[in-house]
Amino acid sequence: MTDNNLPESDLPKNDLPESESSEASKKDKTTSDKHKARMQKLKEKVDSRIDSATDERGLLIVITGNGKGKSTSGFGTIARAVGHGLNAAVAQFIKGTWACGERQLLENAGVQFEVMGTGFTWNTQDKEKDIAAAKQVWVKCKDLLADNNIDVVLLDEMTYMLSYKYLDLDEVVEALNNRPKNQHVIITGRACHRAIIDMADTVSEVQSIKHAFDNGIKAQKGIDW
Ligand code: ATP
Ligand code: MG
Repeated sequence: MTDNNLPESDLPKNDLPESESSEASKKDKTTSDKHKARMQKLKEKVDSRIDSATDERGLLIVITGNGKGKSTSGFGTIARAVGHGLNAAVAQFIKGTWACGERQLLENAGVQFEVMGTGFTWNTQDKEKDIAAAKQVWVKCKDLLADNNIDVVLLDEMTYMLSYKYLDLDEVVEALNNRPKNQHVIITGRACHRAIIDMADTVSEVQSIKHAFDNGIKAQKGIDW
């Protein structure tokens, strides 16, 4: 027991006998020197990559995969762009039955929304109606993809329109290729078509490790919509 009545084992580690304490501090110093050297090397590598990345042009970004976070990521980028005063537009190819929070917020911030008239395609089960609705939104998308004043376009859930063949792939590729040089486009949705992945600059696949829904937890306001 010590003066303050704490057992030795409860004392903080730096209350070691002098010799052990200086050994420990030597070891700490070596570790921190090693860390510093490693970080310096990393910084040099990153700096040189930053220096060689000089190209500036609009990006095509794809967020695909089965995990949660694709639309969240797309809307996050739109919010980021709007925060910098950029002009953004959103096309939603599969509209949920609920008013989504991001639309309410971003429309108030001046973001143009083009929303497919039908609900989830598996709800309507009317293929012809879905195709007509998809084409209607696509006409608006073509305008957005030809508009020099729009800096960022989010094509949310567009991948399904291509996998169901509701939209013509060649037409989509052409519109993407001919868009203004500095316009960024984000495409979200599962199973993105290979042709779009090949032409994209950045592609991320969100993998599902687990999802609350699998445990019977219903979609939550502010989290899922
Ligand atoms: P979010 O809009 O939450 O970013 P997402 O765009 O990645 O999701 P979508 O396939 O568009 O995924 O899913 C829309 C809805 O389905 C959301 O409510 C989302 O929480 C839910 N969801 C997404 N991934 C899964 C999954 N792996 N299992 C069950 N539900 C999911
Ligand atoms: Mg989504």
